[in-house]
Amino acid sequence: MSTQAFKLTYATMFNPPEEMHTQFEAALARVKASLGRDIGMIIDGKDHFTSEKFEDTNPADTAVVLGVFQKGTAQDADDALAAARRAFPAWSHTPWQERVRLLRQAADLIDTRLYDIAAVIALEVGKNRVEALGDAAETADLFRYACDRLEANNGYIYEMGQDPLSGFKATNISVLRPYGVWVVVSPFNFPCALSGGPAAAALVTGNTVVIKPASDTPWTSRLIAEALRDAGLPDGVYNYVTGPGSSLGQALIDSPEVDGITFTGSFEVGMEIYRDFGRGRWPRPTILEMGGKNPVIVSRHADLDTAATGILRSAFGLQGQKCSACSRIIIEEPVYDRLVERLVEMTQALVIGDPTDRRVYLGPVANRSSYQDYQNFAEDLSQNGRILTGGKILVDAPYARGYFCSPTLVADLPLSHPLWQREMFVPISTIARVGNLDQAMAIANNVAYGLTAGFYGSSEEAEWFYDKIETGVSYANRPQGATTGAWPGYQPFGGWKGSGSTGKNAGGLYYLPLYMHEQIRTMVVKQ
Ligand code: NDP
Repeated sequence: MSTQAFKLTYATMFNPPEEMHTQFEAALARVKASLGRDIGMIIDGKDHFTSEKFEDTNPADTAVVLGVFQKGTAQDADDALAAARRAFPAWSHTPWQERVRLLRQAADLIDTRLYDIAAVIALEVGKNRVEALGDAAETADLFRYACDRLEANNGYIYEMGQDPLSGFKATNISVLRPYGVWVVVSPFNFPCALSGGPAAAALVTGNTVVIKPASDTPWTSRLIAEALRDAGLPDGVYNYVTGPGSSLGQALIDSPEVDGITFTGSFEVGMEIYRDFGRGRWPRPTILEMGGKNPVIVSRHADLDTAATGILRSAFGLQGQKCSACSRIIIEEPVYDRLVERLVEMTQALVIGDPTDRRVYLGPVANRSSYQDYQNFAEDLSQNGRILTGGKILVDAPYARGYFCSPTLVADLPLSHPLWQREMFVPISTIARVGNLDQAMAIANNVAYGLTAGFYGSSEEAEWFYDKIETGVSYANRPQGATTGAWPGYQPFGGWKGSGSTGKNAGGLYYLPLYMHEQIRTMVVKQ
């Protein structure tokens, strides 16, 4: 694909050129020819294998084993942290320009391998091909954006004012310096961008890294580790370990050898990590990116075609398994019936199936527990609300061996029902009817989350929406996605309240400094 002619982002992915399909299919064939291998961890630059293993299976066909991965232990966590500790002095003293060069090289390798990485993501997560390509392409851009920011800030070395001392000349320099060993724990839904993005920020600023991916998606993160290794990062600077969050992950969290952490995942696990990590000898930086319960508000002045398109994409893209998925649809009374009718019609037209097939929009949910969640929620919602469409798992051929769920819209669920509050993380959205926009805003903000939100209405109403909504990312009148589709450098991504701990968004202006502490260097010379 010519990157000059077409830049793939989540907002531009709807009409890709034909060449993208040709290249994806060739890559898929290559990847399928390599399934079932025993794939190691990378500790101190070397492949490391354990006696206990786990299988990575395809959620579209659970009989297919994609790869066999290592069930890392607490000892492996210690070994990876020790390797990162040994590598830190040299890496942190490597000139930042050289770190930028290496990270850019890794970004270029990700681009070169984009289609193969995307094919793995499609098989491992169940993403359709454009979503999978987006995840991989975003990762390369996150790498580059981190490099750009370091360059734009001249390595974060700033000369401060000179204090007015008589008989002396003072020089005051502010330097941001890396913390040390950084742990990255990533979720299953964006295994590329959410392993690679935080790792790139940590690395380019001079930290060394240990990454632990979700057990559903270890392969994609391995490919990022390989890009870093092949780009020439020294041994130990980047380590990749696999295994259960409850044992291997917890061992990383509990280790005094960790100087900072970026966790992306659920609110429940994130808050546990926040508390556990707080038990260290001193406070350590804790970047938590957690769940969402993302609302869209539709005003009576909205363009309903635009609203329906944007809502549908955000509710059911990646099967509703985006942290930014549009899970609450709040509509003003005068346009309620028309919009709901439209949404139901469009939802029923979505194609569900093998996500590697170019015609398919919805693949399977990523794992057995999401599949079970969907069934429990659908049962509850059918009793307490009105299912307008969906509500069923798909069990007949060709769906029989995968975790396929029909996209679901629910009306008339009382606002007091717990599923207005809880992140479901499956293709289910609930719809509320309101008399005015103030009521809509009260509902929108009445959750513990504050990740993304969308609005459709007039420009004046949109200004009101930005002012009142309590989220880190807010979109108005966007057909490309009501609440989804952020891209580094365009829409930095992060959440307020229970959606994030720092109040600064990834892929944005203020992100890199989170990975460094400040040192003021004052030198006084007698005159
Ligand atoms: P989980 O919270 O279940 O897991 C996330 C990661 O944490 C996995 O690697 C998991 O490992 C690991 N983990 C689990 N327990 C521990 C522990 N005790 N110590 C250390 N690590 C642990 O999330 P999911 O993978 O299910 O991802 C979905 C969630 O992520 C949703 O809530 C979604 O909203 C959120 N998310 C947030 C984003 C944001 O930017 N705000 C972006 C994307 C997703 P294992 O898999 O082995 O259990």
